[in-house]
Amino acid sequence: MNSTLTSLARALAAREISATELATDYLARIDALNPALNAFITVDVAKTLAEARVADAARAAGTAGLLTGVPIAYKDIFCQQGWRTSCGSKMLDNFVSPYDANVIERCRTAGLVTLGRTNMDEFAMGSSNENSFYGAVKNPWDLAAIPGGSSGGSAAAVAARLAPVALGTDTGGSIRQPASHCGITGIKPTYGVVSRFGMVAYASSLDQGGPMAQTAEDCAQLLNVIAGFDERDSTSLERAAEDYTRELGQPLTGLRVGLPREYFADGLSSDVARVIESAVAELRKLGAEVVEVSLPNTELSIPAYYVIAPAEASSNLSRYDGVRYGHRAAEYGDLADMYEKTRAEGFGSEVKRRIMVGTYVLSHGYYDAYYLKAQKIRRLIAGDFQAAFAQCDVILGPVAPTAAFNLGEKSNDPVEMYLSDIYTLSVNLAGLPAMSVPAGFADNGRPVGLQIIGNYFAEAKMLNVAHQFQQATDWHQKAPVL
Ligand code: GLN
Repeated sequence: MNSTLTSLARALAAREISATELATDYLARIDALNPALNAFITVDVAKTLAEARVADAARAAGTAGLLTGVPIAYKDIFCQQGWRTSCGSKMLDNFVSPYDANVIERCRTAGLVTLGRTNMDEFAMGSSNENSFYGAVKNPWDLAAIPGGSSGGSAAAVAARLAPVALGTDTGGSIRQPASHCGITGIKPTYGVVSRFGMVAYASSLDQGGPMAQTAEDCAQLLNVIAGFDERDSTSLERAAEDYTRELGQPLTGLRVGLPREYFADGLSSDVARVIESAVAELRKLGAEVVEVSLPNTELSIPAYYVIAPAEASSNLSRYDGVRYGHRAAEYGDLADMYEKTRAEGFGSEVKRRIMVGTYVLSHGYYDAYYLKAQKIRRLIAGDFQAAFAQCDVILGPVAPTAAFNLGEKSNDPVEMYLSDIYTLSVNLAGLPAMSVPAGFADNGRPVGLQIIGNYFAEAKMLNVAHQFQQATDWHQKAPVL
């Protein structure tokens, strides 16, 4: 169960294990541990085993690819044909997708076997996974702690070894922050590298799917599967295919690592700072040179993001009207009443809050003061990063100001919750790639991730920085005792 995707692929190729045996083992572990963790919303044994049999047949016929038969878990935000795709919401509790998201299609073609659909904050809005219609996910390291959000189910599943790898999405940190809190590796690619087709839209100019795994090497392998141009996503980038494993193994000698002054200022807890400082020291031993850089508009990322993301969400979520699909109120008067009752019943309170904020900032008389202003700040933030990357190859810092907090600790204070996103939001506003890599533990024993931010299309380089760190350390091999 501690095997990586890379080693499972090897074992499958060597016929040491079959896809069916592997799927059966993981399903048994999910059956035993999921009731306590709530990492999965949907598990369908028959469907999983059918996919595993297809993978075994491909192995037998000699038509298998590198990853054929490797199990994977999908955040419940990716449309998958024949599977309920709830997005963590009552609104889509009854929605069975008639088609595959582009990334699911790619994984299916690669022969990966679906273990199930992972829990998440409703419509990916949240930082703690407490906003799910299906209940909170528990952190496998400490059942009293949040796993992080919004891809908390995927992070908890990989950390608890209920799946070797998973997919998540990151609009403002939702791959990196739960990866950090659960002690796994996750990467949010450059905006436009992974297709958003079939990914339930939250904030379209920020949303990006990506891999979550034990190691950087596994993330690179999975990114090779899911990245690539898709004409059905208008912001998908038309670029030549890349091998994201190509830099793995390069020495880090001479790598210039930037530490943003603003990321190590007030607000960062001392135990997280200690972990990040020792990770930087480790990279220095591996040959990296450290320079101080500045990202002066970091503080403004929170107000800018929490204007832009709700604005886009209020537009995207207007499609849930009770007419076409999803929940519809059972009793209503006229059409307007049907809309109102459907949306009042179908959405949770955080989603309603975002729709109200978004509608407000886009309305006549407030558009210039809020939305347009936020877009200008967004440009300044992107500019800050370009100035920093003139001095360094990658930027390092914390993912979150503290290790995972307790369930319930911030759930009644939305602003407090938003503030915990301080180190992740800027990356999405700028469209940059970034990852979280296990780097140690906080004073309370909960995992802490190191954030690596790269310039546009620097995924292969960042993955190697993480890989070299993982060759020299064993934080990524630590697993919770369950
Ligand atoms: N915490 C942020 C939000 O609630 C980011 C979520 C995400 O990346 N999906 O919007």
